[in-house]
Amino acid sequence: MRDELRPRIEAFRLRTGRPPGLGVVLVGEHPASEVYVRNKLRAASEVGLRADLERLPATAALADALALVERLNGSPAHDGILVQDPLPAGLGPGASQQVFDLIDPAKDVDGFTPVNAGRLLQNRATLPPCTPSGIIELLDRSGIPVAGRRAVVIGRSDIVGKPVALLLVQRDATVTLCHSKTANLPDVARQAEILVVAVGRPAFVTPDFVRPGATVVDVGINNVTDRALLERWFGDDHPRLRDFDRRGALLVGDVHPDVVEVAGALTPVPGGVGPLTIASLLRNTVRAAELRADR
Ligand code: NDP
Repeated sequence: MRDELRPRIEAFRLRTGRPPGLGVVLVGEHPASEVYVRNKLRAASEVGLRADLERLPATAALADALALVERLNGSPAHDGILVQDPLPAGLGPGASQQVFDLIDPAKDVDGFTPVNAGRLLQNRATLPPCTPSGIIELLDRSGIPVAGRRAVVIGRSDIVGKPVALLLVQRDATVTLCHSKTANLPDVARQAEILVVAVGRPAFVTPDFVRPGATVVDVGINNVTDRALLERWFGDDHPRLRDFDRRGALLVGDVHPDVVEVAGALTPVPGGVGPLTIASLLRNTVRAAELRADR
């Protein structure tokens, strides 16, 4: 996907005299957000985008965050705006929604604004949310058919579960959307030919959730610091434990490692949905730039 973007970026540069630009807003010092933002900025520069980090301290007021988004909305050099979630609680109740809602929908490369969420619902999204569209890309490019198949999504967040369910329906899958109140979850999940898991609980989906041969997409990213838990999931002789011993923590998905014995295909964590999310962000930034230049 990144290679496909390079000639488009070059063509845009020749046409407009500047590269497509992405403004990334980071408020406070959330450690995981620092890593995500660094990875996004690096990936953007590597394909030839302009990528600017706009930082605010954790003590910033809501008005500062709103003013920063307004400035990026008006900036001719920025085609995409990404506000890294979560925003510090200190901004006040409801602040997060106010900041995200202020992003110009034409620059909303995360696809989170109500306008873009509505367009997605009506099957005319120009900037679809990155993780869901990355998942569809991952299925397509792995040659996994979607049309006519049974898909189960576990997790109904606005940024992953709900939009990926919509995109799967738009690809003619028959979709069941599950959540914490779903009764008999393993039985429901076992009906899936494509199982997408976005729960945020390490090793939550065990082999009894998985129909033999199913495609399992593990969206979860969980930082685990308890070695005993990892030994229980991976066995006490697994190479990943050596990574843990070096770093004192390990990123694991929502899917238990034993699922590999049952699934037909399984995305790794790290290195699965995460990189596809970033590639989708880059593609949305290029799309937003092209659409703005066409206006
Ligand atoms: P949220 O916390 O917003 O949503 C979690 C969902 O899981 C909710 O719908 C919740 O149900 C459901 N859930 C929680 N517990 C259970 C349970 N016991 N049984 C069934 N469903 C349950 O999470 P996100 O969607 O934002 O993220 C999910 C995971 O994906 C996280 O690990 C996150 O870090 C990761 N992520 C990864 C990305 C990537 O690029 N790879 C991008 C975005 C997220 P209910 O609604 O009923 O509370």
